Amino acid sequence: MSLVVQKYGGTSVGTVDRIKHIAERIAAMQKDNHRIVVVVSAMNDETDRLMELAREISDQPDQRELDLLLSSGERVTIALVAMTLKEMGVEAQSFTGRQVGIFTDTTHTKARIERISAARITTALEHNLVPVVAGFQGINEQSDVTTLGRGGSDLTAIALAASLHADRCEIYTDVDGVYTADPRIVPTAKRLDRISYEEMLEMASLGAKVLQDRAVVFAANHQVRIVVKSSFTEGPGTEVIKEHKEMERNAVSAVTYDRNQAKVTLIGVPDTPGIAARIFEPVAKADIIVDMIIQNVGQDSMTDVSFTVPKDDVPMAVEVMNRVSQEIHAKRVEVMQNIAKVSLVGVGMRSHSGVAAKMFVVMANKGINIMMISTSEIKISCVIEEKHVETAVELLHKEFELDETTSIQ
Ligand code: ADP
Ligand code: ASP
Ligand code: MG
Repeated sequence: MSLVVQKYGGTSVGTVDRIKHIAERIAAMQKDNHRIVVVVSAMNDETDRLMELAREISDQPDQRELDLLLSSGERVTIALVAMTLKEMGVEAQSFTGRQVGIFTDTTHTKARIERISAARITTALEHNLVPVVAGFQGINEQSDVTTLGRGGSDLTAIALAASLHADRCEIYTDVDGVYTADPRIVPTAKRLDRISYEEMLEMASLGAKVLQDRAVVFAANHQVRIVVKSSFTEGPGTEVIKEHKEMERNAVSAVTYDRNQAKVTLIGVPDTPGIAARIFEPVAKADIIVDMIIQNVGQDSMTDVSFTVPKDDVPMAVEVMNRVSQEIHAKRVEVMQNIAKVSLVGVGMRSHSGVAAKMFVVMANKGINIMMISTSEIKISCVIEEKHVETAVELLHKEFELDETTSIQ
């Protein structure tokens, strides 16, 4: 009898009808002799709605209270899903993060899982119940509610799958797998049958929100087998697996974009040793994740330092930078919100040259200005103006022949 963790995202539980639909799937799986653990997200855009309520009160809401507020969305869904299952004659029980024993550190809004006890899940399974677990939440050592970062229900599901030694973790969403680009922007994008953890991690970190990046890291570290599928249609989905040689076919496997970044620039920074540490240490202490960093060529012993942060962290980053700016006698802080990052991802880049040059030519021919560039062994990212993002993604998808290729096997 196999053990499967199934995660249903916001759209899949967005209405009572949809909840009934997934409950039927769960019931059918159980009849098929599988033991199932269900993890659910909040309904549709509920987390965004709760976030907006908090923002009406403060642009930097108290983090402890914010986590309690955000976690309430998933509580609603677990109760509704468990009720629906029971109504259909399937024994089920809902569990919050606290009841499951998902213990995290104290970093509110992006807490890290430290350990999972899962005793109640094991007991529920022994009694042939379907445990329905609230995604995205845990508790810290003070028993305060924490959340695991946006998209964190993926992490709950994968961490539970690892902890329970499940056969696989199925991520049910509103697309039928992982594509060569967001299928909502590139209609000719292709579903991938399989993708390596490494490529999936790059894609997730670079904006392909179909899986949370931290969830992919967890899966890779614990070798959790992930399958991404649609909760609306039948189909094989995309398997996320360990890389193997045959996968290195194309230089580029996917194009991704991220609109959730902003550029913060510190203008007129004294160009002296140690200055970078004085800028970025306080940023790290504030738990802000910095992505790209550029230090412009200095003039008259002055320079400008730019970096990108998630849009949600802009108010905090500006507060920290205003302080740093005074301390190091910089001139001022500037923020640019209307930027986006476009990236190419592919393990094949390791053995193909010229990918970056070709990317730059594509952008240049369309008159798209590149503000920042960063590369790693298997990705190239460019920061551009947000208004060009869809054109850039579509063009790159075409130029790197992702439109025509068949899925990676
Ligand atoms: P859920 O609520 O089920 O967790 P998400 O909205 O977090 O779903 O993730 C699914 C969305 O990810 C899709 O609707 C799709 O628009 C987007 N997406 C972005 N890039 C990709 C990609 N490369 N492949 C598939 N989906 C993608
Ligand atoms: N509800 C949370 C979010 O919207 C977690 C999730 O859906 O995975 O980010
Ligand atoms: Mg998601």
